[in-house]
Amino acid sequence: MSEAEARRIFIERNGSDGSLREDIRSRASRLGLRGWVRLMDDGGLCIHAEGRPRALDGLAESLRSMAAARAVTEEVAHVEGHEQFAIRGMPAGVFVVQEHQATAHHFDVRLEVEEVMRSWAVPKGPSMDPAVKRLAVEVEDHSLAHNDYEGRDGRGGVIIWDRGDYEQGGRVPWPEALERGHAVFVLHGQKLRGGFALQRTGAGDKAQWLLIKRRDEFALPGSDVTADRPESVHSGVTLGELLAGASA
Ligand code: MN
Repeated sequence: MSEAEARRIFIERNGSDGSLREDIRSRASRLGLRGWVRLMDDGGLCIHAEGRPRALDGLAESLRSMAAARAVTEEVAHVEGHEQFAIRGMPAGVFVVQEHQATAHHFDVRLEVEEVMRSWAVPKGPSMDPAVKRLAVEVEDHSLAHNDYEGRDGRGGVIIWDRGDYEQGGRVPWPEALERGHAVFVLHGQKLRGGFALQRTGAGDKAQWLLIKRRDEFALPGSDVTADRPESVHSGVTLGELLAGASA
């Protein structure tokens, strides 16, 4: 078997056929290729494909024969070791970050994965500074219905600190990426934006992970987003105001 090679393939499209990415993914998968297809800002598509050279030739030829593809150009790329052929830039679900005053103050970071919210308690909260690694303790899954919860409970309370949708990234399909302990994703929140990684550092029932902002155009080195933007994206109140207001 010949050595794997990688190529970037750029396609200009006729029209904006929404099923084109799915079509490309199935063609690539049938050829045994791994990588991704992404919609570009100019409306074209960029494909990263890796696998056997003959399969790469086959994909390029197949793309040139597609009615929706106007121009196809190729360049050699580095093999990145993908284990799937993914459609990038598509929301995988929602995320929410709830600031929670319980026995201890923390932020609950939750990602929708297979119809539940996978959850991590982050004592210091997320950071937009790529140099900052934040401890994230894996906690029990929550229901999607809990994403809308904001209010007081007992002597504590919860605000919806940020929310939006997110993309699953990385070379490994989800949820296997989480099972293996390294998950890369892109957040589209009001405060948190761009790429993040969760890296597991310890196994067990309440596994410890690190939440790290990836270096991209959304990174804010030296910033402190939890201090700069303390307000709820739902109501505008801070957690302190929520707790004080309810006792007034
Ligand atoms: Mn909590």
